[in-house]
Amino acid sequence: MKNSTPLILKSVSELKQWRSSLSENQNIGFVPTMGALHAGHASLIERASKESELCIVSIFVNPLQFGPKEDLARYPRTFDADVSLCHLAGASVVFAPLPHDFYPSEFSTDVEETKFSQPLCGATRPGHFKGVTTVVLKLLNLVRPRTAYFGLKDAQQFLVIQKMVQDLCLNVRIEGCATVREADGLAMSSRNRYLSASEREIAPLLYKTLTQTAQKIQGGSNIELALNQGVAILSQAGFRVQYLELRSLDTMEAIAGEMTQSSTPGLLAVAAHLGATRLIDNVVISSHS
Ligand code: AMP
Repeated sequence: MKNSTPLILKSVSELKQWRSSLSENQNIGFVPTMGALHAGHASLIERASKESELCIVSIFVNPLQFGPKEDLARYPRTFDADVSLCHLAGASVVFAPLPHDFYPSEFSTDVEETKFSQPLCGATRPGHFKGVTTVVLKLLNLVRPRTAYFGLKDAQQFLVIQKMVQDLCLNVRIEGCATVREADGLAMSSRNRYLSASEREIAPLLYKTLTQTAQKIQGGSNIELALNQGVAILSQAGFRVQYLELRSLDTMEAIAGEMTQSSTPGLLAVAAHLGATRLIDNVVISSHS
C-alpha cells in the first residue's frame, strides 16, 4: 500500500467517502500542509508513514490564514512535484480540495484560541491563527487521525494547535517535529524560493543570530540587551525585524531580566522581512545554563 502512488482526493465529499470506508480507530497519521513541499515537509510525512498504518497529507493553501496584503495569490503551487514527494515519503493519500469546496459560500464559523495566539505572529499577522485553527479543526474532523504532525519551525502554531486540542478535548495526538535546515542553517520554507541570490546569501544570519542570542541569554546576559543586540545585527545586514522575543513555552508570557534556574523553558522566536520575503525561525532555551 505504502509503495503505490498516493490516492488523490480532490473534494470534501471524496474525503468523507474515503474516511467512512475505514474503521473509526484506524491508525491514521495526518500531515496538513500548504504544498510547495520540501525536505522539512518530507520529514513529517516520513515520520507519519512510519508511525501509522496509513499516512494522509493535505495540500491546501488556506485563504483564511492570509491577511489582505499577504502573499496568497503568489504563494507557490507545485502540485505534481508535491504528489511525487508525498509518494517517496510514504504517504498513501493526498487531500487537495479547492477553496470554494472547502469553504462554500455559506461557511460562517471561526475557531479562535485567544492566549497563545496573541503575541509574536499573532500580533504581526492579525487573524492568522484564527485561520489556522479553523482550517486545522475542520481537517481533523474530516480525517479523524490518531496522530497529526506539525513542524516546530512554526513553534507558535504548534502551541496554539496543542492548546485548541486540549481546550476542546479533541481525540487526536499532536506531535511536533524538529526543524529541518539547509546546510548553512536556514530553516527550510516554501517561501525561501522568493529570495533573490543576494538575499539567500544573507538569510542564514537569521538562525546564526538566534543561536548567538540564545547562547548569550543562556550564559546569563540580560535578556533585553541580548535581544536588542540581535535586532541590531539583523537590521544592519538588511533584515526588517518584526520581532525578536523570548517567551515562556508554558504560558507565552515574555521572559524579562535573566534566565534563572527556575525560569520555564523559553521560546526565542524571530520574524523578519528580507526584501519582500517574510522569514520566521526559533530556538528553545532551557532554564539552566
Ligand atoms: P506549511 O506548508 O508551511 O503550512 O507547513 C506544513 C507543515 O510543515 C507545518 O507543520 C510546518 O511547521 C511544517 N514545516 C515547514 N517547514 C518545516 C521545516 N523546515 N522543518 C520542519 N517542519 C516544517
